[in-house]
Amino acid sequence: MRRTRIVATIGPASDSDEKLQELAMAGVDVFRLSFAHGDIPSGIERLRRVRAIAPDLAIMVDIPGPKIRAGSFGTTSVPLGVGEETELVEAFGEGSTAERITVERDRVLGQLKLGDRVHIGDGGVSLVVTRVGQTVGARVTSGGAVMGKPGLSLPSSIMDDRLPTDEDRLRLEALRDEEFEILAVSFVRSGFDVESVRAVLSRPDVMIMSKIETSEGIENLNEIIEHSDSLMVARGDLGVRLPIEEVPHLQKEIVRLGIRYARPVVVATQMLESMTHAQVPTRAEVTDVANAVLDGASAVMLSGETAIGDDPVATVVTMDRIVRRAEESFPYVEWGAGLGIQHLVASSTQAQRVTAAITGAAWRAAMDENAVALVACTRSGLTARAISRFRPPMPIVAITPNTATGRQLRSSWGIQEIFVTPISDIDGLCDYAVTQLKETGFAKSGDPIVVMAGSSSGGAAVTDTVRMIIVP
Ligand code: PEP
Repeated sequence: MRRTRIVATIGPASDSDEKLQELAMAGVDVFRLSFAHGDIPSGIERLRRVRAIAPDLAIMVDIPGPKIRAGSFGTTSVPLGVGEETELVEAFGEGSTAERITVERDRVLGQLKLGDRVHIGDGGVSLVVTRVGQTVGARVTSGGAVMGKPGLSLPSSIMDDRLPTDEDRLRLEALRDEEFEILAVSFVRSGFDVESVRAVLSRPDVMIMSKIETSEGIENLNEIIEHSDSLMVARGDLGVRLPIEEVPHLQKEIVRLGIRYARPVVVATQMLESMTHAQVPTRAEVTDVANAVLDGASAVMLSGETAIGDDPVATVVTMDRIVRRAEESFPYVEWGAGLGIQHLVASSTQAQRVTAAITGAAWRAAMDENAVALVACTRSGLTARAISRFRPPMPIVAITPNTATGRQLRSSWGIQEIFVTPISDIDGLCDYAVTQLKETGFAKSGDPIVVMAGSSSGGAAVTDTVRMIIVP
C-alpha cells in the first residue's frame, strides 16, 4: 500500500459525483476544497456533496486569507507578452482580458505606487506599475499565459490584513456546523494568526493546517509549528514572495521540522502542472514528486491539475505510480534514526517530551524485533501522528473511538488501516488489536506487534504507554 498521501483539489473538472468516485478509486486520500473561488453557499453545497460521496476520506477546506484574485480570464490561456500595457481595475464578477485585468478586492489598487511589482498566478507573469490613480496602468515585464482566476501578488504592505480576514470570518462562521476534517489557512505569519483562526472556527475536532508561503511564515516557522496541527509548503506563493531558488531548500526545512514535531506536512503546487493539459508529465515533475516523497512529505498535492485539468483521474493515477516507486527507495531506517528527536526532547513541553520518548521506544522496539505492525490507540490522532513521524517500514494501524479522527488520519503518512471502536481500557484495546490484525491479515500467531496508547489525564494529550505483544 502507498504510504505518502495524495491530496486532490476539486474544481469544475472534478466535482461531478462520477468524477469524485473515480478519483477516490484512483487513490485520492484527501479532497481539497478551495474557498478562494465561488461564493460561500456554493462552496458549502460542494462540501456536502463531496462528504456524501467520500464518507471515509478527509476533506480539507482551504481559506484564502488576504489573497487577492483577478476576475476570470476564462478557460483558454490568454497570452500576456513582455512590454504589453494593461490596466488593473477594481471590479467584482467581471472577467479579465489581456488589456483589462479586474481585481476582486476594494481599496487595494489605490495603495499601489509607481514601480511596484505585481505577480500573477504562481509567479510566471509579472507587471510593473506605470500609472496610478482611478485605474492603474501596468506593463508586462515577464510574460506568459494566464487562465481561470489567478492570484495577484501585491507588495506585502498592501496584503497586511490580520487573520482571519473579514471574508474568511464569514466563511468560518458558515463552515462551523459542516463535516470536514482539515482547515488550511493561507498566509499564516505567526502562532497568533493560527490561534485567531482557531478561536473563530471554534471546532476542536478540525485540524488547522498552516500554509507556509510568506517570509514572515519562514521567520516564525518554529512558533507556527507549535501552534499548528499540520503544515503545507505552499510553493506557489512561497516562490513569489521569496527568491524562487530558495523553494527547494525551504521545502526540505519545513518538511523536516514539521515531521519532527509530528505535524503532517503537505508539499503543494505545480507537482504535475503540465498534466493540466498533457497526458504525460515532464521528467522534472516526476523527479519533483519523487523528491518530495524522499524529503519525507506526508502528502503531495494536486491543484489545477485536478481542479481544471483535462484528465484529473489520469493525473492521480500517474502521481500514485511515482509515489509508490519513490517509496521503494525511501531510507526508512536512516530517517527514524536521524529524526533529531533529542532536539525535540530538549525544547518542548513535558507532554511532547513524554510522547517523543515513548514513541521513540516503540519505534526502536519494533525495529529491533521486526514487529509486523505498530498499533496506535488514539483519541485525537496524536499517538498515530507521533509514531508516523519515524517513517517505520512496517504498517501503522490506528484504533480510535472517533470517526473524525479516523478520517483525519488519511492525511498522515503511512496509517495503513483505521479501526473505530469505543473500547478504551488498555487491556481491551490490546485484545481488540490482536483480533483485528489477525482478521485483516496484518499479523498471525507468533508475530510481534507493538501497541501504543495515550491519555489526556491532567490536561495535554500524551502518549504514555507502549507494550510489545507476541500474537497468540
Ligand atoms: C500555493 O500558493 O502554493 C497554494 C497552495 O495556495 P493557493 O492554491 O491557495 O494559491
